[in-house]
Amino acid sequence: MKKIFVTGGAGFIGSALIRHLIRHTNHKIICVDKITYAGNLNSLKEVIKNKNFKFEKVNICNSKKVNKLLSKYKPEIIFHLAAESHVDNSIMKPSIFINTNIIGTYNLLNETQFFLNKLKLNDKKKFRFIHISTDEVYGDLGFNAKASKENSPYAPSSPYSASKASSDHLVKAWIRTYKFPGIITNCSNNYGPHQNKEKLIPMIISKLLKKEKIPIYGNGQQIRDWIYVDDHIRALYLIATKGRLGESYNIGGGNQIKNIDMVKKIYERISNFNKYKSIKLEDYKSLITFVKDRAGHDYRYDIDCSKLKRNLKWRKEETLNSGLLKTIDWYLKSYS
Ligand code: NAD
Repeated sequence: MKKIFVTGGAGFIGSALIRHLIRHTNHKIICVDKITYAGNLNSLKEVIKNKNFKFEKVNICNSKKVNKLLSKYKPEIIFHLAAESHVDNSIMKPSIFINTNIIGTYNLLNETQFFLNKLKLNDKKKFRFIHISTDEVYGDLGFNAKASKENSPYAPSSPYSASKASSDHLVKAWIRTYKFPGIITNCSNNYGPHQNKEKLIPMIISKLLKKEKIPIYGNGQQIRDWIYVDDHIRALYLIATKGRLGESYNIGGGNQIKNIDMVKKIYERISNFNKYKSIKLEDYKSLITFVKDRAGHDYRYDIDCSKLKRNLKWRKEETLNSGLLKTIDWYLKSYS
C-alpha cells in the first residue's frame, strides 16, 4: 500500500487514473485539484466515499499549501496531471497556461525537492514523480516526417504545447541537477468517458445527438493519433511501478485518423444504436460546418511508443472501434 498524490485528479485523465487505482489496488489516493472549469467531482462519484480516497482542494501554484500537503500525507508517488489543457483557450488567454503549467510545475518540483531532502535515504529511494505531458511538445510533423521518439527535438506550436514543453524541461533540469526522481510521459490524444465537451470527440458526439452544427477547423484534414484513456492509465501505472527514473516514455494509441474521418466514424457508431438510427447520412453531412482554421494549427502528430512496448511490455487493450463504442455508450447514458 502506497500513498499517491494525483494532481488534476478531478479532470478527465486524472479521474480515470483515480478510478482505476481505487478499483484495482489498495493504495491511498489523494486527489489534489483546484477545481477549475475543467475539474468535475462527478467524475469521482464512485470513489468519493472510499476509505482509500481523500480530496484536497488546492492550487498547485500555492507553494505554502503544497508544502503543507506533502508534510501531511508524505506521498510515495506523485502523478502530476494538473494543467490547463485546451489549445483554443491557450490561444485566447495564454497567461493562465504560463501560471499553471509552468509556474505550477516549478512550484510542485521545488516543494517536492524540499520534502525529499527531509526524508531518510531509504524512503527517498522509493519516491517517484511522474510528469504527464503530451505528444504536442514535438510539434507539427507535416506529411512525411517520421514518428516522434523520446529523443526527438521539441518544437511546440501553441501556447499550450509551449507551456507543457517548458514544464518538461523543468522536470529534466531537476532530474539532472538535483537527481530528482522523475519520469516524463508524452501521450497522444486521449478520448473516453468524462472528457470535457470542449474537446473534439465529446463535442462531435454531443452536437450529433442534438443535431446541431458540428464545427470543424479548416478542411478537417489534420491527423491525430487517438488512445483510449484507460490504455493511457495502464501505461502510467506501469511506468510508475516499473519505469526507469530520469527517462521519458512516449505513449500512443497507434490510431491515426483525420479529424473529418473521425466525425464520420462517430456518426457510423451512433447510428448503430437503435434510438439514433433517425440521424440519416444526409442529416449528418449537412451538420458538418467548416470554420476558420485554428491559428498555428498543427497538421499531424505521430508518436513512436516502441520503447514502452519493448522495455515495459505495455500493450493497448482497446482498438479505436471498441474504445469509441464504450465512449459513445457512456455519453448516451449520461446525456439521457
Ligand atoms: P483536464 O483539463 O480535463 O483536467 C485538468 C485538471 O487540472 C482539472 O481537474 C483542473 O481542475 C485541474 N487544475 C487546473 N489548474 C490547476 C491548478 N492550478 N491547481 C490544481 N489543479 C488544477 O485535462 P486532461 O485532459 O485530464 O489532461 C491531464 C494532463 O494530461 C494534462 O497535463 C495534459 O497536458 C496531459 N495530456 C492530456 C492529453 C489529452 O488528450 N487530454 C494528452 C496527453 C497529455
